Amino acid sequence: MSPLEHALAALIPVTIYILLRRRRLPSKTILSVVCFGSVFPDLVDKPVSYANLTPWGRVFMHSLPFAIPVVLLVLVYALMTNRLHLGAGFSVGYLLHLFGDWHTRLLNGDIPPDLFWPLTSVPTHPGPAHWWGPDNVNIIWWSIFSLTILGIVAIRMGVDVSSQMNRSSSWDCLQITNTDII
Ligand SMILES: [Zn+2]
Repeated sequence: MSPLEHALAALIPVTIYILLRRRRLPSKTILSVVCFGSVFPDLVDKPVSYANLTPWGRVFMHSLPFAIPVVLLVLVYALMTNRLHLGAGFSVGYLLHLFGDWHTRLLNGDIPPDLFWPLTSVPTHPGPAHWWGPDNVNIIWWSIFSLTILGIVAIRMGVDVSSQMNRSSSWDCLQITNTDII
């Protein structure tokens, strides 16, 4: 599936779910997080594969030994910062991406070894992605786009983690002050 198809395959069910459950349209924040989660494996793995660091563009962040810890880390952080819905949105987008890439084989009961790389070896595949090529997405532009998006998200996450830490330390100070008063 192409990045656009992945984004739509995640955004449509999430939007329908929120409409049915909350009777309102999803916020821009949740849509952005779901969209990012839904293309995250391709943002990382296509450039990494193009740089010949992995066998092809559907392993590493596309593989469960890496995907599960990433999803758990995001969910724990979201839970600790009272934003579980955002963590869940990212995780749903991410996991739907893995299913989307392998849906034909998975629905036939065939589990691709790529999902367990590097615990399993994978067959040789041509190029980083099927949508990569002269008449399709240019992998160099995609890599530049990926690095830009990942860089912006990394900075945004760094700012978020630091503001959450400041918030929790000022809360600790407040509690100590209150205890002193009592
Ligand atoms: Zn993919």
